[in-house]
Amino acid sequence: MVQTIFSDTIVALSTPPGAGALAVVRLSGPAAVAIMAAVFSKKSLAQAAGHTLHYGNLRDPASGEIIDEVVVALYRGPRSFTREDVVEISCHGSDYVVRQVLALLLRHGARLAEAGEFTKRAFLNGAMDLAQAEAVADLIAADSALSHKVALNQLRGGFSQELRDLRARLVQFAALLELELDFGEEDVEFADRTGLARLLAEVRGVVLGLLRSFELGNVIKNGITAVIAGRPNAGKSTLLNALLREERAIVSAIPGTTRDFIEDEVSIDGLRFRFVDTAGLRDNPADEVEAIGVQRTRQRVRQAAMLLYLFDLSEIAPAEVQAEMQELTSGLDLPVLAVGNKTDLASAKTIQAFEQAFSAGQVPLLLLAAGQNQGLEALQMALVAQVRGSALENTASATIVTNVRHARALETAAAHLAAVQTGLDTGRGTELLAADLRHALAALGEITGEISSEDLLTSIFTQFCIGK
Ligand code: GDP
Ligand code: ZN
Repeated sequence: MVQTIFSDTIVALSTPPGAGALAVVRLSGPAAVAIMAAVFSKKSLAQAAGHTLHYGNLRDPASGEIIDEVVVALYRGPRSFTREDVVEISCHGSDYVVRQVLALLLRHGARLAEAGEFTKRAFLNGAMDLAQAEAVADLIAADSALSHKVALNQLRGGFSQELRDLRARLVQFAALLELELDFGEEDVEFADRTGLARLLAEVRGVVLGLLRSFELGNVIKNGITAVIAGRPNAGKSTLLNALLREERAIVSAIPGTTRDFIEDEVSIDGLRFRFVDTAGLRDNPADEVEAIGVQRTRQRVRQAAMLLYLFDLSEIAPAEVQAEMQELTSGLDLPVLAVGNKTDLASAKTIQAFEQAFSAGQVPLLLLAAGQNQGLEALQMALVAQVRGSALENTASATIVTNVRHARALETAAAHLAAVQTGLDTGRGTELLAADLRHALAALGEITGEISSEDLLTSIFTQFCIGK
């Protein structure tokens, strides 16, 4: 049975602010229907069934003034997003109309919702767990096919179910250990130690698998930063433009953080890449300004997830390319693609020499003519393969963790599970084992909100915008 626990009714604009054909204002709470009926031309609304639509006028009963023609969608709790009575008013999307509608509803007893309050109510009323509530925010923000898919899976509870299974398996053992503790000094062992060791290894394996998926999850959610570096005139800017042109329509420009860098985002095969065009690299920078540029490039490479080392095939020898790449990435564990540009200017012999020089090494070589839009597709495929190869292959679980909070909790759980494992191996006392197991359970429970504090909830839900 669902118990709704809030006595007040909240209201907010649920569509983005600004002019639009329509705007949706949402009410949720025990008085949602009564408040709406008081300002609606059709008084029968008060008795209407849930999941129905009603067309009529929104009217200020005090002045008799009609504010807008609206369509009202009515949901009766618990069959609604928040599990409370919910009314969604589709009105005309001008700021003026929306302000009037909100003011009218506030005068009739609604209260303006705080950021994320609708979703918070959905969580507290048991409509979803915490991981699912966070997926609502992710889904709203999702801007690539893959991030959308991951958020949807989390919203549907795929991740939560996996966590509940893990916890359920541990809880049984934890209970047996607690029972041993209740018996005090006597040396009773209810919990079979060999079975516990096996279970721990399994559960910890799953937790570590989920943690590894965070690497990919992070990439999916935040995009992967690929720095394009190389000597001046190698064709870096040309390549960046060529990569962007293909996707221009759905790409949003990010102004470079400094004038040395131009960055832009492109979605390739569902993955979001952020390409950074750097100032040219030169061995002996002629002046100070240029030296600073080179330094900054190095710094940018250190922060990147991937490096495209671009060179002009007709200007440089294979050994030089390899030396420059090496220098730029020394001490870094970073996937690198060597990209030979201007195939149109290079002789067959040159191309052959490069292919031979790179055939034995670890770094893939791609040859293209950015200025002629040639070979870009192979580069895009190599970029995607690089990301999927390094992250996806580690991701055995179907669930992909995208949330930093979840990753931290999983880390904590894994550490405590490891402590229990060590404790078992070294014959540590039941009390210590039980304590670590409790910590591991608590960490897993924090993800779905089975264990939560007001502080945690506040920090999560205030990241939402008003109306969600
Ligand atoms: P950056 O300094 O590395 O950013 O190099 P740019 O992108 O500014 O390019 C330097 C010069 O190389 C420009 O004149 C480009 O038109 C030219 N260029 C770039 N790509 C190609 C290519 O594939 N073939 C030829 N022939 N020229 C190119
Ligand atoms: Zn450039």
